[in-house]
Amino acid sequence: MVCTSLRQWLAVLEARGVLKHVQREVDLHFELAAVGKKADGRYALQFEKIRGASIPVVTGIAGTRELLGLALGVPREQIVEHFARAQANPGDCLLVEAGAAPVKEKIIHNVDLGSLPIPVHHEKDGGPYITAGVLVAKDPLTGVRNLSIHRLQVLSPNRLGILILPRHLSHFFRATEEEGRPLEVAIAIGLDPLLLLASQAITPPGYDEYTIAGALYGQPLELVKGETVDLEVPAQAEIVLEGRLLPAVREVEGPFGEYPKYYGPASPKPVIELTAMTSRRDPIYQTIVPATMEHLLLGAIPREGGLLQLIKNTVPNTCGVHLTPGGTCRYDAVIAIDKQNEGEAKNAIFAAFSSSQEIKHVVVVDRDVDIFNPHEVEWAIATRCQAGRDVFIVERALGNKLDPSSDNGLSDKMGIDATVPLDAEPGRFERIRIPGEERIKLEDYLG
Ligand code: MN
Repeated sequence: MVCTSLRQWLAVLEARGVLKHVQREVDLHFELAAVGKKADGRYALQFEKIRGASIPVVTGIAGTRELLGLALGVPREQIVEHFARAQANPGDCLLVEAGAAPVKEKIIHNVDLGSLPIPVHHEKDGGPYITAGVLVAKDPLTGVRNLSIHRLQVLSPNRLGILILPRHLSHFFRATEEEGRPLEVAIAIGLDPLLLLASQAITPPGYDEYTIAGALYGQPLELVKGETVDLEVPAQAEIVLEGRLLPAVREVEGPFGEYPKYYGPASPKPVIELTAMTSRRDPIYQTIVPATMEHLLLGAIPREGGLLQLIKNTVPNTCGVHLTPGGTCRYDAVIAIDKQNEGEAKNAIFAAFSSSQEIKHVVVVDRDVDIFNPHEVEWAIATRCQAGRDVFIVERALGNKLDPSSDNGLSDKMGIDATVPLDAEPGRFERIRIPGEERIKLEDYLG
């Protein structure tokens, strides 16, 4: 069964024993994040009692590839292909009336962020941060919607500081700011894993990420009109914040503990002024503890989907891609190909670099190497690669500003071809094997 709301998904997790309810009172200052991090990859947590707040908080709803496979309805190995297919065959959205939208059960015009249980996650964070909010905005030129997740710092009861990396939203904001106009935005909180995944897709400009959610659901995504903004928001969300990105306003945002496991620094950033908050009658607040597997995987799978599509355009015999957890699920990619022509590994590397600014190191291996096993990948580099011939570096391309080794985003890119040369003499690269090993059950020989 496909879940189209956070609540449906929580019920699935509950039935599988993955969702645990925390009845002990927790503090929004560090304690909630610390407990969430401890449970990362094992349990989803619903904190029922928050000091000073009446709304429960969930975290860790998608902390493993297995859970994301369950949400998508495919085995772990097919997740990336499945996501790529959804992106290539977008689904539909259905506009519903406010009466049919749970997120309209409560409507508040004087927004007070203090009424929401927004945690402070890491030691040096500049304050409470909304981390699981999907921001929707429209391209001011074409009207096409865009979804993205941003770190959002609570600056005052109705203002948020936002980090906008140079992607689609930054283009929209630049266009309205140049005309001295605000950009309308809405931030949906409390969503199912498929909509969260859809929001993270690597798409060309002009692509409405809502339509990926429709494809993943296999049924239209229900949207409803905003109260104070000309935007459609997910009808099944727990909470929606509406507001405007203000032109020519910058306030200090940060520091913030980010997915690379370092702090993104404090600096003047754009500001969202909130104009309304709508929610369910008894909303659940959702947070993603930064740098947990939940955070990394929600970004990794859509990126892998986009990456696989792009590489296949160039190297059709690509078998799989993996953005490794050690590489923060953003910077380091491993690609498996069934090499037919010499040089394909390098072409795959170029395609990977072009898929995302974030990709920094790319290793290409043959299809016999398990790209999810770091020992296998290292073995391929150790035994199938000569650095002078098989490693190349492109200096000072655009990378990711959150990588502390970059020069304010300028970053070197490295490609490693760890595939066996096609003209290697027979037998030279033959993997050793013991006949029958795969059939042996050790227990049969012990005790
Ligand atoms: Mn986009």
